[in-house]
Amino acid sequence: MIEATGLVKRYRRTTALDGASFTVRPGVVTGFVGPNGAGKSTTMRLILGLDRPSEGSVTVGGKSYRELAAPLREVGALLEADAVSGRRSARDHLRWIAKGARIPDSRVGEVLGMVGLADAAGRRITALSTGMRQRLGIATALLGDPPVLLFDEPLHGLDPEGIRWMRTLLQDLAGEGRTVFVSSHVLAELEETAEQVLVIGDGRIVADVPVTRLVAHR
Ligand code: ADP
Ligand code: ADP
Repeated sequence: MIEATGLVKRYRRTTALDGASFTVRPGVVTGFVGPNGAGKSTTMRLILGLDRPSEGSVTVGGKSYRELAAPLREVGALLEADAVSGRRSARDHLRWIAKGARIPDSRVGEVLGMVGLADAAGRRITALSTGMRQRLGIATALLGDPPVLLFDEPLHGLDPEGIRWMRTLLQDLAGEGRTVFVSSHVLAELEETAEQVLVIGDGRIVADVPVTRLVAHR
């Protein structure tokens, strides 16, 4: 569960968030939709403690990110700017993060399998395709088996097969009872994936409704 109360984030010239309050529930995929500049990435960064709100607060499972004892076990994230890079192999990259977070090494093989990278595990990250790097980013988010997952524009740049795969993964993760919060600037991208949709505009939540209220079902 993610709970935001009166989130305000001001930059020097811009108010990125202007009093956003919302709850993201476990067990369903929640879409986070709004045009570019609406405040989606800022919200994700505040949830992850990468930035501090000017006012208000946001908690994950009742605690702010900074209070979490083992963050990677509580919330996993794929942020847009987060393109994984480096000279290590995909497997070594994950082992390095697992070690830092005291996650058992055996989990590395598991997440590589979950994202379909088992056969590419020994390849350098620089030799992976964009889609494969995206999968590696997701493997990183899943490493700590967290109950809360944030995905910022996860369908961006994927081919049709990648999009189908991602949709199934998001729904499976929610079906396991996790909180799955997925942003997109294109509602149509999420209409087959999300059950609940939060719409953000100019830093405010303008709708928080079941997807069936926003799109007709064929
Ligand atoms: P979205 O993810 O919905 O596209 P963002 O959260 O990235 O929106 O941005 C919201 C607003 O805040 C935009 O006007 C953006 O230019 C501004 N903004 C975001 N990050 C910064 C920053 N570090 N410094 C100044 N302005 C920022
Ligand atoms: P540190 O506390 O070591 O400085 P940061 O909080 O700056 O680490 O995060 C380092 C990187 O890890 C950033 O790229 C950030 O986006 C990413 N990150 C932070 N928290 C998570 C998370 N829960 N899941 C996945 N990536 C995360």
